[in-house]
Amino acid sequence: AKVTRLAPSPTGFIHLGNLYGAFVDERLAHQSHGVFMLRIEDTDEKRKVEGAVETIISSLEYFDLKFDEGATIDGEIGNYGPYFQSHRGEIYQTVAKYLVEIGRAYPCFCSEEELAEIRKQQVEENVNTGYYGKWAKDRDLTLEQITEHLKNNKPYVLRLKSMGKEEDTFEIEDAIRGKLTIPVNNQDIVILKANGIPTYHFAHVVDDHLMKVTHVVRGEEWLSTLPIHYELFTLLKWDLPVYCHTAHLMKMDDGVKRKLSKRKDPELGLNYYKSLGYHPASVREYLMTILNSNFEEWRIENPEKDINEFEFTLSKMSNSGALFDLDKLNDISKNVMLKIPAEEIYEFFLQWAKEYKGDIVALLTAHKEEVVKLLSVGREDRNPRKDLIYCEQILEFISYYFDEFFKVEDSYPENMDESEAKMLLRAYLDTYNHGDDQSEWFAKIREIAVANGYAAKPKDFKKNPDQYKGHVGDVSTVVRLAIVGKAISPDVWSIQQIMGEDRVMKRLEKAIG
Ligand code: GLU
Repeated sequence: AKVTRLAPSPTGFIHLGNLYGAFVDERLAHQSHGVFMLRIEDTDEKRKVEGAVETIISSLEYFDLKFDEGATIDGEIGNYGPYFQSHRGEIYQTVAKYLVEIGRAYPCFCSEEELAEIRKQQVEENVNTGYYGKWAKDRDLTLEQITEHLKNNKPYVLRLKSMGKEEDTFEIEDAIRGKLTIPVNNQDIVILKANGIPTYHFAHVVDDHLMKVTHVVRGEEWLSTLPIHYELFTLLKWDLPVYCHTAHLMKMDDGVKRKLSKRKDPELGLNYYKSLGYHPASVREYLMTILNSNFEEWRIENPEKDINEFEFTLSKMSNSGALFDLDKLNDISKNVMLKIPAEEIYEFFLQWAKEYKGDIVALLTAHKEEVVKLLSVGREDRNPRKDLIYCEQILEFISYYFDEFFKVEDSYPENMDESEAKMLLRAYLDTYNHGDDQSEWFAKIREIAVANGYAAKPKDFKKNPDQYKGHVGDVSTVVRLAIVGKAISPDVWSIQQIMGEDRVMKRLEKAIG
């Protein structure tokens, strides 16, 4: 069984990268009947944001990620807490003391100015070794010197006494990247800051060991600091977890592949999906296609299976940048939505409206039955104009139905003026019979077309454009505009049936004026 953790910092911004990693964590844990936990990395006071933990938890819940242990809205669950790093001070202090005791950590009293001076000198000498070797000024302070500094209340940080030799390397097997041979750490990095708070490196090692984490899934930006973690684990004689460094999420921008950016790409934030009302199953399905290259093939062979039946594998993950593409997400969303019964989509849509569109909730509730029908019109015939993708689009899609929102958005077909359109609508109204079935209804449209100089079929018009005013499609477009307000919509006959005769009449009369 695998034990994994999601370890976000509560900065108030939870993003697609977090979710991407979280799905990996969740699958690894639950596929092996293991444990998936949530640890909050809140050691950076400056970046802490009110309510951020709740945002993290509720966003992840939205995407159906279930934690077995860790921070929850109702407090912490599990035996390896506390799960907030800010509550683990004593634990870090204890391990830090041990490192001092065995001579592998030491206090460094260098002031900001001294450190700046070291950096300046390194620039001048064209070296970039950091706090290391002859630059590690406080490394060999005597006990007397240390006591003297402490007596004077001089602030200090605690540094690791690195034993790495510049030319040495070590080997490590990354579960996504395979075998890596990388230089060992040789920096005396800070493990506890002046305020006693651990750095990420130290907290990561201590927490993941004590919480019995077996697999550390994290972004590739951490790869360069792996030598530090390797040295810390090794000197503490703790087993290393299996590291899984995931590739950055990239997007194509003007033909160039680049990292998704918080500033430029709203789709990086998880709130983007929630506020537009993407169904969590859509996002999950899409992320799985970029997580595992063989997922799409599996889905084609198993269209009805639960996504969790797919055997997720780390070795099938890309290690060179995963391409994120909103169009592809939308495409997948159409398929996912198609499998969800209209009643369920309605419920999902209503929940979304309650959070984001308070003013339509009453309408949706009062007209539940009709909305469910509207959501089902022609879904199975896979006409793109009927595809449901996300709630904001669904709203756009059905709002014409309510008189409050109805407006004519598109114009008459080319070459048709208003009086011609009204004449056609009058003819339509005169012969309208609400009881007509779909083919009777269409036969009437065709009759009106032919009687008024329009071709019965588009191809007849194409062959002899001079002979006709247009074709039957132009006539139905005029009707569509009167009933739906748009030139493109699901099947008008079905919509009229849902609307009922009175409302159809009213819309026609209004259009005729
Ligand atoms: N707190 C780190 C982050 O937000 C966690 C990295 C890790 O998973 O170890 O990126």
